[in-house]
Amino acid sequence: MPDLYDSAQERELQNQQDAQAAHIARQCAEPAQLIVDGQVLCIDCDEAVQPGRLAAKPTAARCIHCQGIQERKGAQHGR
Ligand SMILES: [Zn+2]
Repeated sequence: MPDLYDSAQERELQNQQDAQAAHIARQCAEPAQLIVDGQVLCIDCDEAVQPGRLAAKPTAARCIHCQGIQERKGAQHGR
């Protein structure tokens, strides 16, 4: 008996877990990055995020400037 069905099911399950993990990660982490032509653009000012910042934090969605602003008003945690 070929176990094609089983591995398809396994893959399906894996996909679900991945999607769930990604969903959770998105909820409690940075907002999604804006990537244009392979370059990460700041979601606030549309400027390219500094390579140095991306090296330090590959998931950064804001440039260092806007992240600073964000963190300063982060105390009130409003949107
Ligand atoms: Zn910015």
